[in-house]
Amino acid sequence: MSRSVDVAIVGGGVVGCACARAAALAGLRVAVFEAGRVGAGATAAGMGHLVTIDDDPAEFALARLSMNLWRAWSAWDTIERRTTGTLWLAETAKQRDAAHAKLARLRAAGLSAEWLEPTVLQSVEPRLARDLAGALRVAGDEVAYGPELAARLAADVCAAGGAVEEMCAVAALRDDGLQLASGGRVSAGHVLLAAGCDSVRLWPGDAPLPLRPRKGQLAITDRHPGYVRHALVELGYIDSAHGDADEAVAFNAQPRASGQVLLGSSRSYRDASPDVDAALLARMVRRAQRFLPDIGSLQMLRCWAGFRPAMADGRPAIGRIPGTRGNQWVATGHEGLGLTTATGTASVWLDLLLGRAPAIDPAPYAPDRFVAVAA
Ligand SMILES: Cc1cc2nc3c(=O)[nH]c(=O)nc-3n(C[C@H](O)[C@H](O)[C@H](O)COP(=O)(O)OP(=O)(O)OC[C@H]3O[C@@H](n4cnc5c(N)ncnc54)[C@H](O)[C@@H]3O)c2cc1C
Repeated sequence: MSRSVDVAIVGGGVVGCACARAAALAGLRVAVFEAGRVGAGATAAGMGHLVTIDDDPAEFALARLSMNLWRAWSAWDTIERRTTGTLWLAETAKQRDAAHAKLARLRAAGLSAEWLEPTVLQSVEPRLARDLAGALRVAGDEVAYGPELAARLAADVCAAGGAVEEMCAVAALRDDGLQLASGGRVSAGHVLLAAGCDSVRLWPGDAPLPLRPRKGQLAITDRHPGYVRHALVELGYIDSAHGDADEAVAFNAQPRASGQVLLGSSRSYRDASPDVDAALLARMVRRAQRFLPDIGSLQMLRCWAGFRPAMADGRPAIGRIPGTRGNQWVATGHEGLGLTTATGTASVWLDLLLGRAPAIDPAPYAPDRFVAVAA
């Protein structure tokens, strides 16, 4: 492969691959350098829920843009995915009220959503606990398979004349390209740091990148096709995701294309071990039983843990790395929404690089927002 490119990208997760694809399709010579295998980092650990989260307006804008771009992707109809929609489950009257506010927001933005009273909820998801206060159904959300998203995006990069090098770690970003761990160098007009949690180690900016790995655990059952039909998420999940608790558990469950049920999830800043924490897993299962009382009758086949790249304010960093010459870029920190927002991230980043106006306001994602706060 050529060692001189327009854009050299560090990291072959879903974010790096989406950015590489966008740049390659725009006619730039692109190369991705991945220390391991494409899509094997946080991308492989994730649940694959492509979900239009609306609680933060900036996050909502990025999620909506991303969902539109996913649907416009040429591979969309041929990947493993299901349009399950999402049921946001209310346990209490207070959560029901919050769900109605959410419903109004989603409808105002033109999304298809409806409130399901408890009796209707029972008919659409009979396995759910009978004492729930109802659910908000959002129609367009999807369940996909993260590693496949990354692999197919990477295939597009290669088809467009770009290169994807696996087992090729980057040691440092340079003004004129990349220093590879093997000792080689890559000459590049621009470099993009998209190394997920490891972006911290390669970060060349003046102020530190305020990104922390946030561990999450998942479990998957044996095949029970039709056990649930929607992606199920407790409304309290949003507090868990946006909150800063050292450790939290919130219920969500998905019907996978294989017929398996994928159960999540936990969030922990304090556990840096890649191993599954059995006590926390037991908490997750208990939480799942609150919503799906007979879930214990399904055999759990596997469980795993991964690390979400979490920024201090919950929003990714997309743009120029502050304190560098202007040709070093970052796209990371997507926490638990990077599978959803990879395409929108790529669009915003590429527009900035090409000097075009992005489709959404990029300011909430500006990497220098933390420098300004620190000053
Ligand atoms: C338990 C869990 C559940 C999740 N569920 C969802 C969900 O349902 N929906 C959703 O949208 N998101 C979800 N996410 C979040 C999503 O998985 C991440 O936000 C997303 O995968 C981040 O992608 P990335 O490309 O930034 O990082 P990664 O996938 O981690 O990719 C970064 C890549 O950089 C490589 N790298 C690191 N250092 C170097 C180096 N020096 N040189 C070269 N390469 C390097 C790594 O090997 C890695 O492959 C979940 C995450 C977890 C952990």
